[in-house]
Amino acid sequence: MQPQDFGFEYQQKISSRTRSLRVHIDRFGQVIVTTPKRYPQSLLHEFLTQSSEWIEKHLALYRRRSRVDEGNAGAVLYYGAPYHIEIQLHENGPTIEQKDSHIVVRPISPTPVSCALAVERWLKAEADRYMSKRIHELAKEMNASFSSLHIRDQSTRWGSCSASKRLQLNWRLIQAPKEVIDYVMIHELAHLVHMNHSERFWAYVERFDPAFLIHKKWLRFHGAALHKDFRNNPAFRSLK
Ligand SMILES: [Zn+2]
Repeated sequence: MQPQDFGFEYQQKISSRTRSLRVHIDRFGQVIVTTPKRYPQSLLHEFLTQSSEWIEKHLALYRRRSRVDEGNAGAVLYYGAPYHIEIQLHENGPTIEQKDSHIVVRPISPTPVSCALAVERWLKAEADRYMSKRIHELAKEMNASFSSLHIRDQSTRWGSCSASKRLQLNWRLIQAPKEVIDYVMIHELAHLVHMNHSERFWAYVERFDPAFLIHKKWLRFHGAALHKDFRNNPAFRSLK
């Protein structure tokens, strides 16, 4: 079987120190499989076949993550992808229109503050629409019930769950990939069962989000980017 049969290429590393197979994606997005010495190729292929879904998922997230990092100054993150901004002055502002790879911002006045407000309002509205629908789908899957959901600006947290089953989510999450938004929702819904961060809690989260560690990491790496003040966006700075 050739590597391309998996839909991804991988690099095999042989280690005399390892007794078991390991697979990981390095910081260049390369799939690395570490095997013990003289490991049968048939077993390796079987392992890769079984893990291909997991690997593809992680690769997709990696690709999106690198796009976020590629110095996307002047872009707005939307579901984890950078959208470049085009500013148009229009008497019927403020409006925002999403095109294939960019968003058109039509502010009330040609100032960074006005543009930033328009973008923020648009993202908040999308967060409201998307998250309040998605949370119900996940709650159903997890057989969980909560009393209310508030989507708001929380400077220090992505979400919370109170003893009275009220959920809060940060609207800024709309800038993260959908899998990452799902993770935060699953995390908060899991608190309805375990009101702590015990091993049992994390095992429960993993049941509904097997790749939760990678999603958690994504937030750790990009949290600051999601909290960026839109007024400082280079796309708007020229307006000053
Ligand atoms: Zn928690």
